[in-house]
Amino acid sequence: MTQLAGTLYILSAPSGAGKTSLVKALLQQDADVVVSVSHTTRDMRPGEQDGVDYNFVTMDAFNALIEQGQFLEYAEVFGNKYGTSQQWVRDQLEAGRDVILEIDWQGAEQVRRLMPEAVTVFILPPSRAALRERLNARGQDSEEIIDGRMAEAISEMSHYPEYDYLLINDDFAQALDELASLFKARRLRQGAQQQKQAALLTDLLSEV
Ligand code: 5GP
Repeated sequence: MTQLAGTLYILSAPSGAGKTSLVKALLQQDADVVVSVSHTTRDMRPGEQDGVDYNFVTMDAFNALIEQGQFLEYAEVFGNKYGTSQQWVRDQLEAGRDVILEIDWQGAEQVRRLMPEAVTVFILPPSRAALRERLNARGQDSEEIIDGRMAEAISEMSHYPEYDYLLINDDFAQALDELASLFKARRLRQGAQQQKQAALLTDLLSEV
């Protein structure tokens, strides 16, 4: 693929690590970052909006999108299917925006293979106890249900060594600051600056 102007970021985390809140806060303070809205076959949860949190589709519609080659990656995660729209991601990157994919380790593996320049970040909770507490956010789930969620979280977390960066979400403001710093630092890379600052660089080196 030709050199893309924006950077592709993959953020993975177990449920309960605060990934979605961090991404929402980052988007509010950084206008050059966008997040991909995935397609999913899972049911909508209270408070979620179609087209905002996910594009909620039937299994038939999801399978049709696979056949049409519309997904950059897709995976089954704990019984439901999830996929990332290929065209949207490429359009955004070409327009110079940094794109975040909030996807699981299986999706990360597929994207890494297709786009090795993608930056991968794994977000972890500060402790096992904090994770368990966050997985029981409503405070009314049975021990058995929470145990099930913990097992899923541990299975996802076991993939942390495959990622470029590890972020511990203990203090929210600090974790957000660290994430924002990563995005800012990546924009100063030689290749990115040569594209963005082409006119300045030419001018600075022109003969007197
Ligand atoms: P949830 O249903 O709780 O929103 O998400 C469950 C898991 O699916 C999370 O680990 C989330 O990162 C992952 N996920 C969400 N969208 C996608 C996607 O488009 N592709 C893949 N591979 N995983 C996704």
